[in-house]
Amino acid sequence: MSNSQQQHADTIIIGGGVAALWTANVLKKAGQSVCVLTSGPLGDGQSLAAQGVIHGGLKYAVGGKLNEASQELAHMPTRWLDALDGRGAVDLSKAELLCDHQILWSLPSVVSQIVSFFGSKAVRGRCSIIKREDYPAVFNFPEYKGQLFRIDEPVVDPVSMIRALADGVTNETWQVEWDKNSRLEFEGNQISGIVLTNLDHSITRLTANHFVLAAGAGNGPLLEALRWSKPQMQIRPLHQLIIRDDNLPDFYSVCVGNGSKPPLVSTTHTDRAGRKLWYIGGEIAEQRGVARSATEQIQAGKSLFKKLMPWYDLSEAEWFTCRAQRAEPLTNTGDRPPGAFCEKRGNTFIAWPTKLALAPNLAEQILSQTSADSTVNPIDLSLPRPKFGTPPWDLP
Ligand SMILES: Cc1cc2nc3c(=O)[nH]c(=O)nc-3n(C[C@H](O)[C@H](O)[C@H](O)COP(=O)(O)OP(=O)(O)OC[C@H]3O[C@@H](n4cnc5c(N)ncnc54)[C@H](O)[C@@H]3O)c2cc1C
Repeated sequence: MSNSQQQHADTIIIGGGVAALWTANVLKKAGQSVCVLTSGPLGDGQSLAAQGVIHGGLKYAVGGKLNEASQELAHMPTRWLDALDGRGAVDLSKAELLCDHQILWSLPSVVSQIVSFFGSKAVRGRCSIIKREDYPAVFNFPEYKGQLFRIDEPVVDPVSMIRALADGVTNETWQVEWDKNSRLEFEGNQISGIVLTNLDHSITRLTANHFVLAAGAGNGPLLEALRWSKPQMQIRPLHQLIIRDDNLPDFYSVCVGNGSKPPLVSTTHTDRAGRKLWYIGGEIAEQRGVARSATEQIQAGKSLFKKLMPWYDLSEAEWFTCRAQRAEPLTNTGDRPPGAFCEKRGNTFIAWPTKLALAPNLAEQILSQTSADSTVNPIDLSLPRPKFGTPPWDLP
């Protein structure tokens, strides 16, 4: 490589989570020359901290109205299942489908509301009543008096999903260290290029028809560096619970309570040592949970389980917590925006999928506004390749 050279891509994507990797796979498949630059490990931040639920919006519709958020999400389970089957927009055939559905259960006070909602025409075909004899082990206790519904919203293993997406763009992905070996260049209101110092100390100036900022919480500092005051980012911290016990049965569920948010959302994972664990989010992990110390949060979790599932003995289980944060565009209400967020400014897209589930929707938005130029060659850089991040249950 000469001391200074120029390379041009159709699209340069900054980030290394589900948003960047899914989009890169889709654009590459469409014939674009893509380049993914991440400053941290792949999946680090939100994607590997996610519960992996591919929402179809039913959870949000329980209040009786299929709102904007639930309609955007309705197509996502099919998109993901196609990808997991190896016949979708991206190839996730090597990713693990943890469960093809979730169980929706409720507090006794809302049983009748739930039964009438799930019997309604609006949701028919996307959920079904589970017969008592088919109750999963967690609910197979006479003390559970409610009704169980199966909702067709799959749960994907975030770890193998990120690996499968990364596999599709291995040769197009590099690790950068901003202000050390890489620097954004601007011209007027646009990103004009990225100057990279290669491992052999040569310089590459990278230009592209389009840039995508898909760095999760990293978009905030990137927007600051660009001196763009809009869109603004909001961070929503979470304080999740991890319950580990070798004998735990599968528990992929959403509990419906009296409020607009489920008090508890559970998924089941296996840690590096092969131990089963329940990963718990929902309202318990939100504001009040965030304000609690780890010890207080564990206590609150134990009390919640005693209240919601008094029949299930967790006395032998080990309890942990982990903190994570969602990065999203700032909305007037502070609520989540309905779909994947993607705003175009000049040659740059600023993107937050807002949900793992909406990564396909984000990639479609970017694909429809970019195109392949047959004269553009693949990018070849001499930079380090990124490592993979670690899910919260495997962190030391
Ligand atoms: C606890 C928790 C549970 C969740 N559960 C679900 C769920 O069950 N279902 C669902 O649909 N959604 C869920 N979500 C939301 C979902 O995880 C996120 O919407 C999604 O993962 C965001 O992906 P992303 O690629 O935009 O960001 P991230 O996953 O945060 O990835 C950001 C990437 O960019 C890199 N990066 C950071 N800064 C820079 C920079 N300056 N330059 C270059 N690269 C940078 C990082 O290293 C990382 O690789 C959950 C989120 C949390 C926190």
